[in-house]
Amino acid sequence: MTHIPEDHPRYASLITREKIVEGVQVGITSQQGLVAQGRGEAFDYLIGERTIESAVIAERVAVAYLLTAERPVISINGNTAALVPGSLVSLADVSEAEMEVNLFHRSDARVHRIIEHLKAHGAGNVLGAKGDARLDLSHDRAIVDQEGIYGADVVLVPLEDGDRCQKLVEMGKVVIAVDLNPLSRTSLSATVTIVDNVTRALENMVYFTKEMKKDNKEQLRGIIDSYDNRKVLADAMYAIQENLKNQAAREGIEWI
Ligand code: ATP
Ligand code: MG
Repeated sequence: MTHIPEDHPRYASLITREKIVEGVQVGITSQQGLVAQGRGEAFDYLIGERTIESAVIAERVAVAYLLTAERPVISINGNTAALVPGSLVSLADVSEAEMEVNLFHRSDARVHRIIEHLKAHGAGNVLGAKGDARLDLSHDRAIVDQEGIYGADVVLVPLEDGDRCQKLVEMGKVVIAVDLNPLSRTSLSATVTIVDNVTRALENMVYFTKEMKKDNKEQLRGIIDSYDNRKVLADAMYAIQENLKNQAAREGIEWI
């Protein structure tokens, strides 16, 4: 890994980039994953590389869904496995959710490498190798486990493709997406859209789960019932606009 000095103004972003590159080098992340990360970085830049308030609301609602679910599953791809393996394992642990590897550019070898990588970070059982059920989609992300995503009632899909997100919603599942682009098909179709970097969102969700585990089911349902995903998307768009306006003002550039 290239040495990045901690006082570098883009430290967090550069470390994230290094982790993804390392993921590709060890065969966990696909090359296409690098490009997806690039798009994420661009949106993170626009939003100000911070967790906005509406993302905190969405993260708490997502946790309420996970804690009230009958069969919660966390779907894991090559990017999230490289970026946040420890947080994924912790979240599955505290929320009692299953973990399932699900890849767009699928190969059995890569599925197994990701499972081993998660186990090295403390995971117990990780689903995804069986692939004994199919969603009605024409690409490899259709391949799922019967006892995992196929039968789940709540699915957390950090970094999802729009097609599959829509399909999971059509199947009647609650879909929680983490996506820095509030305009992606994924963001627009998920039940709960967390417009935040996965590196921040997963850590926050682990923290909230520990705290909210003390709440009773009625309290958790109350949090869910008062939620409006469209408001969260609108707030993310507004946050991007305000961030750009402030940046322009700081640089003495007139906002027209
Ligand atoms: P969709 O299929 O939903 O319309 P897309 O085709 O534009 O989305 P994909 O390539 O399918 O995008 O998936 C990448 C998505 O993940 C992008 O929207 C990008 O902003 C987001 N993303 C990438 N890296 C991160 C990250 N670290 N944290 C949060 N979101 C990210
Ligand atoms: Mg897509």
